[in-house]
Amino acid sequence: MSGLFDRWRAAPLPSAEAEQPAAMGLQVWLDDQARVLRLAGPLRTLLALPAPGQRRLHDYVQRHSWVVLEGDPADWQGQPLDLDFQGVLGHPLHTRGWLLRQGEAWMLQLFDVGDLLHERASNGQQQAEQVLATQMSRALRECGEAHLCEAVSEQLQGLARHWQAASLRLMVEEDGHWHSYASSDEQWPWPDDARLQPWLSQLPPQALSDTQLPAELLALCAGGTLSLVPYRQASDVQAWLLCAGGATTPHGAQGLVEALGQPLLSRLHHARSLHQARHLDELQAQLGAGWWEWPLEGDLQLDPALAASLGLPRQISLEQWLARLHPADREPLQLALEQAWAGRELSLALRVPDADGQRWLHWAGQLQGRRLRGFLLDISALKAQEQQTGAARARLENLIASSPAVIYVQRCVDGALHSEFFSASLTPLLGWTSDSEQARQPGLAVHPDDQPLWLERTRSLLREGQVRCRLRLRDSRGGYHWILDEARLLRDDLGQPLEVVGLWLDVSEATEAAERVRQSEERYRVLVEDSPAMICRYRPDLSLVFGNRPLADYLHCTPQQLVGMNLDQWLSPGQREAFVQRLQALTPEQPMSSAEICLQLPGREHAWWIWADRGLFDAQGRLLEIQAVGRDNTEVRRSQQQLLQGAKMATLGELATGLMHELNQPLNVMRMATVNAMKRLENGTAEPTYLLEKLQRIEAQVERAARLVEHMRVFGRRSEVERAAFPAWAAVVGAVALLDEGLRGKGVTLQVEAPRQLAQVLGHQDQLEQVLINLLVNARDALLQQARPAARICVHQSLAPGQVMLWVEDNGGGIDPLLLERIFEPFFTTKPAGVGTGLGLSVSHGIVVAMGGSLWVENRGDGACFCISLPAHMIN
Ligand code: ADP
Repeated sequence: MSGLFDRWRAAPLPSAEAEQPAAMGLQVWLDDQARVLRLAGPLRTLLALPAPGQRRLHDYVQRHSWVVLEGDPADWQGQPLDLDFQGVLGHPLHTRGWLLRQGEAWMLQLFDVGDLLHERASNGQQQAEQVLATQMSRALRECGEAHLCEAVSEQLQGLARHWQAASLRLMVEEDGHWHSYASSDEQWPWPDDARLQPWLSQLPPQALSDTQLPAELLALCAGGTLSLVPYRQASDVQAWLLCAGGATTPHGAQGLVEALGQPLLSRLHHARSLHQARHLDELQAQLGAGWWEWPLEGDLQLDPALAASLGLPRQISLEQWLARLHPADREPLQLALEQAWAGRELSLALRVPDADGQRWLHWAGQLQGRRLRGFLLDISALKAQEQQTGAARARLENLIASSPAVIYVQRCVDGALHSEFFSASLTPLLGWTSDSEQARQPGLAVHPDDQPLWLERTRSLLREGQVRCRLRLRDSRGGYHWILDEARLLRDDLGQPLEVVGLWLDVSEATEAAERVRQSEERYRVLVEDSPAMICRYRPDLSLVFGNRPLADYLHCTPQQLVGMNLDQWLSPGQREAFVQRLQALTPEQPMSSAEICLQLPGREHAWWIWADRGLFDAQGRLLEIQAVGRDNTEVRRSQQQLLQGAKMATLGELATGLMHELNQPLNVMRMATVNAMKRLENGTAEPTYLLEKLQRIEAQVERAARLVEHMRVFGRRSEVERAAFPAWAAVVGAVALLDEGLRGKGVTLQVEAPRQLAQVLGHQDQLEQVLINLLVNARDALLQQARPAARICVHQSLAPGQVMLWVEDNGGGIDPLLLERIFEPFFTTKPAGVGTGLGLSVSHGIVVAMGGSLWVENRGDGACFCISLPAHMIN
């Protein structure tokens, strides 16, 4: 600078007279009042001339230069004058010069110092920028972690002021994404990160001004001036500073952005790696993992957290490490270590015993230079799972192997099924080995009748995804087994058929058993249908559910018509009541009962059926249904009645002699009375009282004879079909009436003790009378045979709960004990031929048993004692 001025000083001064054609810069001649007299020099063309009339130097210079022009020119000499002239086009002309006396005038020699000033200014700016950069770097380096973002914002504000920019925004790249880190101004309408992202990713890594930026990006950023300055590390852009509303390319931008970006990004990287390290530590702790390192000469070094969790110091010797391991893992570890030192990769599972059992660790690593490096990972959970899975698998395999069913897998290829697996039970079941021809193609072993079924099985399996069928498979010995085949199709995630999993169950036994049951049912059905017996099932209300043909035939209808008919319609009220009572007495413990029932069938007189019932009960013991088997007993009944009748007739015949006597007796009495009365009438001594007495006697005898005859008639009649209730004693009275006189005539005393209370029994009175006649006649015969002087027959009745007993006791010497057993046998008699029939006691026994009672005998005192015991009939 001084050189320049020196040069200028040395130059000859311009004279007022002579033009200085080669003069440099600007020469201004002034008078004492600073009025411009003349201008010269090349720079004069750059000056903007003031308005006419304004000739003072002040009018040429810019206002701020007036300070330099204090006083008159005389005051200005001897010092450098810096004057900024008004230039053409508004550009100021910066000059420096000195005032020299030139005769009367003053000459102001000026030089253009615009460049010098500019240089100085730019030096100043550089310095200022350097200061700013240092400040920024320091601020960002020194601020606390939590205030980093805030600090960046502040620095951006400072930078915005420096650049006179409207707003600055710093975008930082992280994992391929650009995000705004801080802005100088929260108000500025910056677009959001997502919209900026595509632009920032593709921009060239250099400072870019308006003209270099795409119009869309400019439009995004509020349309004003925009410049972007990158922060690079190597060739990677790690941050962009966006500057809106300032100079086209801010001065010193790159340096300032570096001063901002370098500390910021290094701090961000540092924070990120810290965060990652912490994250890694946490992960390691969660996984139970950690690093380890083993220098060639030295001890094993463990990750501190891992060492603590294993209860080991951070640095341990091989011996310590081996001692900590499960004994079984020590040798494998040593061998693996040797190989690892030789360059092989280290990878093995180790057990470390601890208080709860043991921990499984995966020890992995490899040689790196002169040390082994790797990690340890806790795989206890994995091992436990592996063991559980192994155990479950073993159980499953065991189950499959010991299953009575064959489990198989068929692979599906283009719609065809290929056997791929059979469980071990295949051989015991069918005698096939899993690699046999049959196992490969089971269709070949399917029974010819079942082959269509087998083909359909494959089709419907592919169509519907599952199938269940029963078919016959030939075993290795040629025998067939009924197999229940159940299979399911598995598809891949595209729905394509993948494989079939299924099982075969040998159901031969069940199938054959079912067949046997069916056949047996058929046989029973035939048996029931064709049985000569009447078989039916009916409900407790007596409505029929089923009846076989014989029953239908008896009832003059078809078996189908029987269903729904009610048995009730063929029973008399008495029979029905007895029938229902019998059913009511059935219990699950005693479900059987039988009886002889009497029915009034269409077109027939009476039918007697021997009827056996069996009740069927539900779980609560309620009677649901009755199965019955019946046999027609009418013929037997009829012949029994005939037999009874015959026996009765025989008794009558036997009684006939006695009856003659019985009838003779009144006839004699009547004849005597008549003869006597007639004599008195003839000889005229017949008094009315006498005649009356005779007539009364005759009447009494007629009555007696009539009673006898009537009784004989009744006795001789056939018994009623149905039983009826009557007083048991009435039979005694009837029998005694027939025999009383005859016995007395034979010197036998009949002692009849009339009962105090009459008791009803159910049956036929004439039949009971016949029993009593038989007993009385037998007693009489025994007495007459012995020719006892005090022959006596005693008849009386006794009662026990529900029982009526009629006793006939004699003193005729009793029955030979050896014969006691036999006297009830038919045709057994000790009487001479032609006298005894041997039927009396046997018929009597039959009658009493038919009435539900019993007839027995014992020798008592001096004779025999017969007892008829009958159930007493309660009248409701
Ligand atoms: P019958 O009287 O025709 O012989 P029964 O069957 O009535 O046939 O009697 C069988 C036998 O029982 C008689 O022959 C007799 O020996 C014996 N008997 C029956 N009742 C008596 C009695 N009260 N005392 C002794 N013996 C008797």
